Amino acid sequence: TQPELPQPQEPVEVAQLARDFNQLLTAQNGRLERERQFISDASHELRTPIATIRGNIKLIERRGDKHPEVIPESIGFIDQESLRMQHLIENLLHLSRADRATITLQPLDLAELITSVVNHYQPLISQPITLAVPDHPALALGNVDMLHQVLTALLDNAHKYSPADQPIQVTVTQRPGLVSLTVGDNGPGIPKAERAHVFERFYRVDASRSTKIEGNGLGLAIVSQLVKLNEGHITITDNQPHGALFTVTLKDAKEN
Ligand code: ADP
Repeated sequence: TQPELPQPQEPVEVAQLARDFNQLLTAQNGRLERERQFISDASHELRTPIATIRGNIKLIERRGDKHPEVIPESIGFIDQESLRMQHLIENLLHLSRADRATITLQPLDLAELITSVVNHYQPLISQPITLAVPDHPALALGNVDMLHQVLTALLDNAHKYSPADQPIQVTVTQRPGLVSLTVGDNGPGIPKAERAHVFERFYRVDASRSTKIEGNGLGLAIVSQLVKLNEGHITITDNQPHGALFTVTLKDAKEN
């Protein structure tokens, strides 16, 4: 008689292994494709200011002698475009740092932090900022530097996209388990269909591109990354009577 052979287990295991491997490959390809797209977008964004700078240098070289009146305007363009490149490179660095960062979250008083950021920011702009914070500490879990950066970016946008005579409204509120920060403005707001996209890298709503408001579409991508690192959430809703309202929700330090 033949000895009883063990039933082969391999086919099932191999099939499972092949599925896992395929899944891994698909995820990897998706990541590589996103990285490729990101590098291509970043290169494109850098190419535009470089072309303008080079064009204006050539113009000065060719016509500067006989037509010195072109020089101040060209230098103005060179200055403006190199500043744009500087902002872009700073933002790219922020993004790559946020991509790699792992942080430990610390209990912090969000009311105190936000008050201090607003007090430093207000003298830089003539647009008024109103601030409403609880009169007791609002203890959240987070990272002071990153949250400082989040609020500054949201204030920069509110200032850029809303009329200078309309106040920017900042609030901190505390509910059981959650601490929230809101930044509201009375600008054009962000259409519902665009709200998920504005957190993507390099995405700008058409209306703001056409108004020629300076920007590279990276600010909110950085904000969203930083909020995620702080284990928080960010949402956009309508402000009243109109405008955009950004809400950042963090974990309550007392319950975690
Ligand atoms: P940008 O450098 O273009 O300001 P962001 O990533 O900070 O880039 O914002 C992405 C887009 O979201 C902006 O181009 C603009 O269209 C829109 N946006 C952001 N904040 C506001 C706001 N407060 N009001 C209206 N639109 C906004």
